Amino acid sequence: MDVAELRSGLADLMASSKNELQARFVKWLERHMESHEVVVDDAIGRTLEEIVSTLIDSTRDGRYENILLRLKDFVDKPGFEQAEAGLRAFRTILVNEVNRSIEDVTTKRRTVQLIYKDFDLMLDGISRLHERMYALRLEKRIEERTAELLETRRLYEGLVEGSPIGVCILQDDKIRFANDELARMGGYVKEEITGMDYRLLLTPESLENHRESIERRQVGLDGPLTWRAKVVRKDESLLEIEVYSVPTTFGGRPATQCMVRDISREMKIEQLRQSFFSNVSHELRTPLTTVSGYVKFLLGGKMGELDQSQVQALEAANDEADKLDRLIDTIIELSSFDSESYRLRLGDVDIARLIDETARSKESQAKHKDLRLEVNLPENLPHVVGDERRLELLMSNIIDNAVKFTPEGGTVKITGCEEGSDVVIEVSDTGIGIPKEEQSRVFDRFYQVDSSPTRTYGGAGLGLSICKEIADLHGGRIEVESDVGKGSTFRVCLPREGKPE
Ligand code: ADP
Repeated sequence: MDVAELRSGLADLMASSKNELQARFVKWLERHMESHEVVVDDAIGRTLEEIVSTLIDSTRDGRYENILLRLKDFVDKPGFEQAEAGLRAFRTILVNEVNRSIEDVTTKRRTVQLIYKDFDLMLDGISRLHERMYALRLEKRIEERTAELLETRRLYEGLVEGSPIGVCILQDDKIRFANDELARMGGYVKEEITGMDYRLLLTPESLENHRESIERRQVGLDGPLTWRAKVVRKDESLLEIEVYSVPTTFGGRPATQCMVRDISREMKIEQLRQSFFSNVSHELRTPLTTVSGYVKFLLGGKMGELDQSQVQALEAANDEADKLDRLIDTIIELSSFDSESYRLRLGDVDIARLIDETARSKESQAKHKDLRLEVNLPENLPHVVGDERRLELLMSNIIDNAVKFTPEGGTVKITGCEEGSDVVIEVSDTGIGIPKEEQSRVFDRFYQVDSSPTRTYGGAGLGLSICKEIADLHGGRIEVESDVGKGSTFRVCLPREGKPE
């Protein structure tokens, strides 16, 4: 029996037991597909029928391209991955059928050999198909990734190059990368500034101040940092900059990425603001001192005896002049908080004496409203490290408020004690009190519980915000406890040794 006869016998056998073979294969498929969560539906059944028919034809003439072509239809469909397993399963089913139906031992053996040879060819084809498929998919994926990367790169270039902020990367003291804005800030073009030693761009003073921290970041030590410096531009003019530097990597090695902002304009405005405030305060204070001086002079009877109503009028003028004086202090203080050069003048402060004196200066105000102003401080209240003038402003604002917000006949009490490493001062009044929900906000700038134009009490809503800033700067804190209609207690805690480093 030659191969052609064997083939034709096998094809006939397959054709005659086609339904049987298919049914067994569907069973296998169901078991197998279940674990892959694929349902063997009609469409798969029909495809299977076509495949088996093609298989019979291919067996008859030994040309397996057709079966591969048919399997290729499954490409990209779920199930193709299992084609190889399916073919092996079908081979087992077919061999069983041959063993069962062919009686002649030699024909049986040769037919089984033929099946193994033919199916090996098909399995080879499938592997190649798999490889091709895999390569195609990989190619597609690479194309997609490349497009994504290009998109990201375009986006990044747009962001960095179009940014109004200078961006550069420093490594080994060199500017490895710079955007147009950075180059423009220095008066260079990008090609000139790239590769330049950054140290040539800073003034010697700025370099001295920042060199160590820049170097530490260039080698990947320490985290983000904001610093200010002066740049020497190409035309030797100076530029003030603010730099935000963060660690990064460049060419696989640690580097520093810097975001640079030109703050020359801001600095100029800041200088103007400072000089404006110092001029205004001078212009306001000089005439006020004269007015206040004359009023006090008159009140002292230096220009003749005064009757009761004249004294009252002059005292009112004196109080208003004092208020104006404090408002000027407040404005100057507030503006200086925001300035770069704000510094406390620290020294040893006898806080008990300071409070005594401040309270004494409020006596006439208190008397005016028939208030009792009591100061009750222990003799040995420790001194604190602080800024005397600022602490006086703090205490003055709190006592002023207590007097202001307490109706006639009430009491303002000042007590103090030592608590651990703090000195604690409490100013309590029997005044109008502050509603619970407003208590945390009274320390905000311009905040007033009653800010209506028809409000009873004057003020600008700035006093307590200054008190809070002064307390914070001393490493201390200020708190309030209050009951509406009963009164308030402001509690100031100051560390005896000043703000810890
Ligand atoms: P102002 O100039 O209005 O007094 P402050 O910042 O000193 O500004 O105080 C903010 C607000 O807090 C005041 O307007 C007032 O509503 C409330 N306040 C402050 N101290 C007291 C107090 N002792 N009793 C009641 N309310 C107070």
